[in-house]
Amino acid sequence: MRTTRSERKFFDHEVAVGPVPSRRLGRILGINNIPPKTCNYSCRYCQLGRTSVRQLDRCEYYKPTEIVLSVQDRLAELLERNEPVDYLMFFSEGEPTLDQNLGGEIIGLRSLGVPLAVITNASLVTREDVRGDLGWADLVSLKVDAVDPRIWRTINRPHRDLDHHQILTGAEIFARRYHGTLVIETMLVKNVNDDEEHVKELAAYLESLSPSKVYLTVPIRPPACRGVHPPDEHSVIRAYQILCSRLPEVECMLGDGSGSCVSTGDVVTDLLGIAAIRPLRKDTLTEFLIRYDAPWDTVTDLIRAGELAKVKYEGEVFYLRKLKKVRRSRAR
Ligand code: SF4
Repeated sequence: MRTTRSERKFFDHEVAVGPVPSRRLGRILGINNIPPKTCNYSCRYCQLGRTSVRQLDRCEYYKPTEIVLSVQDRLAELLERNEPVDYLMFFSEGEPTLDQNLGGEIIGLRSLGVPLAVITNASLVTREDVRGDLGWADLVSLKVDAVDPRIWRTINRPHRDLDHHQILTGAEIFARRYHGTLVIETMLVKNVNDDEEHVKELAAYLESLSPSKVYLTVPIRPPACRGVHPPDEHSVIRAYQILCSRLPEVECMLGDGSGSCVSTGDVVTDLLGIAAIRPLRKDTLTEFLIRYDAPWDTVTDLIRAGELAKVKYEGEVFYLRKLKKVRRSRAR
């Protein structure tokens, strides 16, 4: 018998979220395999807010079968509604490799016949077990914002026991052995990691990883910290050209790219699930509500109930899920 949506909620969030439009991979079904905002970084630009549980060690949050069953049932619902999914993607409300069962979950999910991607901050590719887990995915996206340890500390605000040199080395080992599609994501932040010399060093390092593609992004959604802004156009174009001089494929992702978000009947649950991993711009949210015949009061009610927050950033209005405090250990 298929599980219900409320049975598929752990830590008050859904395990399988979406489908959500992705700028890179089409329509993705997001997989939340860890509790909200559990990470070993606390990036200044994080769109999920400040890290509430800064954790270094991997641990168990769910049994792999719980994750696989949740995703399987959500896929079945979507299939019944003719809602296609191009990719399953671990892009949690935090860092997915902190889940010690990640490898088992990926192996279990492969049987569902949908390509699978993991978006990681790369901090744990220092570990053989994490490199092994990621090796099962069809696509892995590694975050590399800085090759200078001082810039890394400023922009990513890592757990104090992480070692930047080991991370860069671990990424090189992973890149050499990995047989899937390796992509890199670099967030450029004004006056932090966008100066010419740093971008040149970054380009030289990324070349050593031989990724299929490098995605250059800028903060376009409300960040965790004040004073985080996208670089000016000149700096973005300069960075793009420097990267292109070393790497075969570089793409700038400067727009919102939210596209159409999908609901499969429960508008409030879907809205909160999407807003937890991706703050929604007002026009995207309006389009979503109109499409599913839901009134704007849905949003005002959620704000009043403390479930949703309204934030202004770079002249745009966004709506994002308010984070609740969670316990450090498994909460079931
Ligand atoms: S952007 Fe990613 S790696 Fe950085 S704090 Fe947020 S969840 Fe963690």
